Amino acid sequence: MVCNYLDIIEGRKTAGQSVAIIGAGGIGFDVGEFLTHAHDGRSEAERFDAEWGIDRSYASRGGLKPAVDEDAPRRVYLLQRKSSKVGDGLAKTTGWIRRTLLKKRGVAMIAGVDYKAIDDAGLHITINGEPKTLAVDTVVVCAGQEPRRDLFAPLQAAGVPVTLIGGADVAAELDAKRAIDQGTRVAAGL
Ligand SMILES: Cc1cc2nc3c(=O)[nH]c(=O)nc-3n(C[C@H](O)[C@H](O)[C@H](O)COP(=O)(O)OP(=O)(O)OC[C@H]3O[C@@H](n4cnc5c(N)ncnc54)[C@H](O)[C@@H]3O)c2cc1C
Repeated sequence: MVCNYLDIIEGRKTAGQSVAIIGAGGIGFDVGEFLTHAHDGRSEAERFDAEWGIDRSYASRGGLKPAVDEDAPRRVYLLQRKSSKVGDGLAKTTGWIRRTLLKKRGVAMIAGVDYKAIDDAGLHITINGEPKTLAVDTVVVCAGQEPRRDLFAPLQAAGVPVTLIGGADVAAELDAKRAIDQGTRVAAGL
């Protein structure tokens, strides 16, 4: 019942009806969105317009119509250890969109969580010290990324000049901008 986010995103595992996501960083939010995305035969554009209240026919004033929240296909809890607001560390200009979307889809976003155990009853946690059991059938881990450096030592041993960049350098708080910056500098220095 426990898997990592790659298993879910790449389709090796399918989450059940009730899911706890451990880690509410950017990846946790993406996984939350993925798991609450309804597949109901409408096109993505139709779904998007309905969910955000966009009227492409301009029949209503301002091109807006009442938004219709999606019925999420599963119950999702998005958890973090930090006691700050869930999603506080997301990008300034887009973070509100991601928080709003998950709220619209009924995702329970919980801060101040300590993880105690996982068993057949679900995920045992404390929330600001209060014990609670989330009766989930799937736990997706979106925390504790480790850099993958399998090629680094063999290349060095073979005498190939090698520089660690991006996720292989630092995997915590994944940051594409830093990876691009590092890669560009290495390339420019060749
Ligand atoms: C779900 C998710 C959401 C994210 N959202 C954001 C975001 O919103 N903003 C942000 O800034 N960052 C985000 N990130 C992080 C961002 O994707 C990474 O920081 C960035 O991709 C790191 O770049 P990289 O070049 O180090 O690694 P990667 O982009 O992973 O590239 C490594 C490449 O090397 C290839 N490779 C691996 N082994 C070999 C081999 N032996 N031979 C040849 N090729 C190989 C891989 O196939 C891959 O294409 C997110 C990450 C995930 C997983």
